[in-house]
Amino acid sequence: MSLDGRPGDRLEGPLPVTGNGVVLEDSNRPALAPMSSQRLRLIPNKDHNPDNYDDMELDFSPSIFTSLERFLPPSMLGMPRHDKVKFMTEILLKYLPHGERNRVQKHRDYRQKIISNYQVENFEKWVNEAKFRIMRPNTMNKYGAVLDDFGLETMLDKLMENFIRPISKVFFAEVGGSTLDSHHGFVVEYGEDRDADLGFHVDDSEVTLNVCLGKQFSGGELFFRGTRCDKHVNSGSHSEEIFDYSHVPGCAVLHRGRHRHGARATTSGHRINLLLWCRSSVFREMKKYQKDFSSWCGECLREKKERQCISIRATKRELLRREGESTA
Ligand SMILES: [Zn+2]
Repeated sequence: MSLDGRPGDRLEGPLPVTGNGVVLEDSNRPALAPMSSQRLRLIPNKDHNPDNYDDMELDFSPSIFTSLERFLPPSMLGMPRHDKVKFMTEILLKYLPHGERNRVQKHRDYRQKIISNYQVENFEKWVNEAKFRIMRPNTMNKYGAVLDDFGLETMLDKLMENFIRPISKVFFAEVGGSTLDSHHGFVVEYGEDRDADLGFHVDDSEVTLNVCLGKQFSGGELFFRGTRCDKHVNSGSHSEEIFDYSHVPGCAVLHRGRHRHGARATTSGHRINLLLWCRSSVFREMKKYQKDFSSWCGECLREKKERQCISIRATKRELLRREGESTA
């Protein structure tokens, strides 16, 4: 579908067109105007197949960029993603109220701070130079270090108490989220000369915080496949349990430790993640006396529903039988 000549497609013009969604700062630019003076289309280009922005560090959700891309001026569609992101971010920022704009900027700064404040690399260098014997973080990772062993225990405890516990109390109450009382904190490294991927597993935690500290990498996606109790840890997954997540430096994932997951191979570059396994002694004690975990185990829940179905069917049959007897 060609939209040539529509106001929304014009790259220049005497007046900004209202209702177009974009107001131009200076509309009297020459034909080869810089990107910032180009306009969005009025009607999206439905034939255009937009890029995927999931792996980029963005100020807005990647899906917003994918959707907005269909409204880009035709000349921009073939541009590198980075240029398109720059243009679309400018537009999105222009339309945010002031408070919101500050929030986006603050988020951006905060992400950067998270990445630069955790001087993991220097830390590991120091460990190697000092010929410290690093305790490896878990049975599955060869590279990385336990942070609690290097004076970060108190800081991580505070992180758990002040941030993770309040959030987990709301989202993961059924696995002891409100009573988290100990942790195991470590960093893991992936990429060239490091671990490549991490097999499918559950964590020895009630709630896990996984922060991506950088740097430049591709691959390394997390794949989640449903939460399971000890008994059902090896059962199959259901289609609605399939969830994949791409890491963004400075962003974190919080999930149940029993949420089965793995990390795909980091195919290039170098990825560092901070893991904080949070545990609840109360939950672990109570678990010993429990048999039904249908409040959080996908398989226990499925079995419970199946039992209910069978019992309902049996009751129905019994009622029909009685009805048949009484009318006979
Ligand atoms: Zn179960």
